[in-house]
Amino acid sequence: MMGGIRRLLGFSDGEEEETIASNITQLVGRTPLVELKKIMEKDMLEARVIGKMEFFQPLGSIKDRGALSMIEDAEEKGLIRAGISTVVTHTSGNLGIGMAFIAIQKGYRFTAVVPGDGYSLEKQILLKYLGADVVHCDPNLGVKGIYDKLYEVCSAIPDSHLIDQFTNPANPGAHFRNTGPEIWKDTGGRIDVLVCGVGSGGTFSGTGKYLKMKNPHVKVIVVEPSESPVLSGGQAGRHLIQGIGAGVITDVMDTSIIDEIITVSSEEAIKNSRRLASEEGILAGISSGAALAASLRVAGRSENKGKMVVTIFPSGGERYMRTQLFAEAREYCEKMNA
Ligand code: PMP
Repeated sequence: MMGGIRRLLGFSDGEEEETIASNITQLVGRTPLVELKKIMEKDMLEARVIGKMEFFQPLGSIKDRGALSMIEDAEEKGLIRAGISTVVTHTSGNLGIGMAFIAIQKGYRFTAVVPGDGYSLEKQILLKYLGADVVHCDPNLGVKGIYDKLYEVCSAIPDSHLIDQFTNPANPGAHFRNTGPEIWKDTGGRIDVLVCGVGSGGTFSGTGKYLKMKNPHVKVIVVEPSESPVLSGGQAGRHLIQGIGAGVITDVMDTSIIDEIITVSSEEAIKNSRRLASEEGILAGISSGAALAASLRVAGRSENKGKMVVTIFPSGGERYMRTQLFAEAREYCEKMNA
């Protein structure tokens, strides 16, 4: 006990213990918090704005958590068997990438159903590189198109098992068990507001539920694209904020814990991702920019003076090199190299 604490504090006991993970799946979770001091100062904010850096996950996104949780849940229930089962899931990319590395480590075949409109070629390339079978569904058919394709794929593969992030309680469960407790512990229980983007809704539902259980005064503010404001009662639409704004209210969403919904445009999300990079040196994805944009609005309110606003940066920037986020830098380099 004492040895562990001394080591955490940086003392050496002479006799060192190994701290080596026995496989990569053990490194899921435990991401750090960073205060965005330069942005707070520049915007003269009187609330603290803190980001949780989910790109510190093994394969770079918050979805590593849900992927591990849903696969381990299926294992515990005896629904999948290593060396035999094929796991099938629908994904906009990051969940699939998380599932792909876990499937390799645990010995499952893996098929990812992704929207087939050229939606993030980088993510499809990564899936393929990690040995997944990538199958396209028709994005124009919406959620029905996803499920029709999933059932078609599952009926064609013997010993296949469908993992559906929209309905699986182990998706928000990962965040109730880990993301929420990590934020509570790392803020010393001082968090006042959680600002969180919504895709499947797993992150906000699990994290928000845990934080409200610890302190009912914690506000849960969710973020969706203004071009696809489904939670706000509007129509699903196309947007550039990959990972959020799935266009559907899912079974795993606990809408009862939502205190407020903020909509952010694709343009504002991209502008704020660039702010994270250029002002804080934080290379994060487009949904992180949306989360920042909403957090800055919340932090600028007079009623939030002195409060702590914690938001989640779900993925890193490099996964979006071919998107609008990198347009200027990419065009500059392409011209220079032409
Ligand atoms: N941002 C990114 C980049 C994502 O991939 C996802 C997951 N689709 C989210 C945010 C939203 O997470 P959740 O599915 O837990 O709502």
